[in-house]
Amino acid sequence: MINTKGYAAFSPTAPLQSYSFERRDPKADDVVIEIAYAGICHSDIHTVRGEWGPAAYPCVPGHEIVGKVVKVGKKVKKFKVGDLAGVGCFVDSCGKCQSCKTHEEQLCTTHCSFTYNSTEQDGKTPTQGGYSQHIVVKGKYALKLKKGMPLDRTAPLLCAGITTYSPLKRFGVKKGHKVGVVGLGGLGHMAVKLAKSMGAEVTVFSTSPSKEQDAKKLGAKYFILTKDPKNFETVAGNFDLIINTVSVNHDFSPFLASLKTGGTMCLVGVAPKPNEVGAIELIFGRKNLSGSLIGGIKETQEMLDYCARKKVYSDIELIDASQINEAYERTIKSDVKYRFVIDAKTF
Ligand code: NAP
Ligand code: ZN
Ligand code: ZN
Repeated sequence: MINTKGYAAFSPTAPLQSYSFERRDPKADDVVIEIAYAGICHSDIHTVRGEWGPAAYPCVPGHEIVGKVVKVGKKVKKFKVGDLAGVGCFVDSCGKCQSCKTHEEQLCTTHCSFTYNSTEQDGKTPTQGGYSQHIVVKGKYALKLKKGMPLDRTAPLLCAGITTYSPLKRFGVKKGHKVGVVGLGGLGHMAVKLAKSMGAEVTVFSTSPSKEQDAKKLGAKYFILTKDPKNFETVAGNFDLIINTVSVNHDFSPFLASLKTGGTMCLVGVAPKPNEVGAIELIFGRKNLSGSLIGGIKETQEMLDYCARKKVYSDIELIDASQINEAYERTIKSDVKYRFVIDAKTF
């Protein structure tokens, strides 16, 4: 076993605390990664606070993981010791179902082993995430990082990056397209950067007036403050695609009204409760309401290579482990510029 140290939640209400635990000995198809940085995703907060159902404690969150490979199993061809590697939101899947066979392991219909608050393929060993110094993972489920990528600003690509890249690609965003991004947080700021890099004209919808300057610096042409319904008038029937990253329940209607005929609003933000959607809002204008979950290993690798080529990285606030609880509170208050990343040396 490999002894490692990290931070874990022990209940939905108590602050996260320092936690020492063991990782499995690497098998022939595993790699051991010494973690350098781990991003804080709002999903970490939803999970440890039981907002998506009860979590299994202790829970070490974190699925935006980058670091250095320090050990390689005999059967692993993809990595050698010293390589840079990333781990995203899942660490294994059945490998046999239709989703796995078509490179969408995150949608595995048998059992996707998520990076934390989940189980390995044996169905019983708990998985523990990236707020820690080491992780042991099947080489096939780790991602390759090119030399020269700034590791701290790359970590958020493993979730925020792929979650926004995947629908932008799926809906064919290119020059001339109008893309709306709802919520300027971790996912939202990556959606802006990526949509802009693909040639789209980007509009940010936000509840925070203070984010207007930043939205424009990140690549948005327009900024719409959503608190005043009047502000939607200028964009009625405007967008090909809206990526909605909001983490709380809110009214979809003004956003659906902002889509062009045949346009799509893709939900990536996971509001805890169901939403009301009127059939009329979709039928008139033949509009689509869609959802998207992270991305498979192949597409995540494609996204990382794309970001390295285009130099698209996250804007981060680097913190020590002791600041995790404060970072959670600030994220909940939408006060994040635009992703907290933990320096793993401080665990
Ligand atoms: P985040 O950094 O907290 O960003 C969410 C943004 O939503 C906030 O910055 C804020 O932007 C906006 N917002 C917050 N409260 C709001 C309210 N009351 N009304 C309207 N807007 C509000 O979170 P994140 O890490 O980007 O994650 C966003 C959501 O995506 C979470 O639910 C997370 O679980 C989910 N997620 C899904 C996937 C997937 O695969 N589908 C992957 C990762 C995360 P403004 O200040 O600009 O309004
Ligand atoms: Zn995430
Ligand atoms: Zn599967």
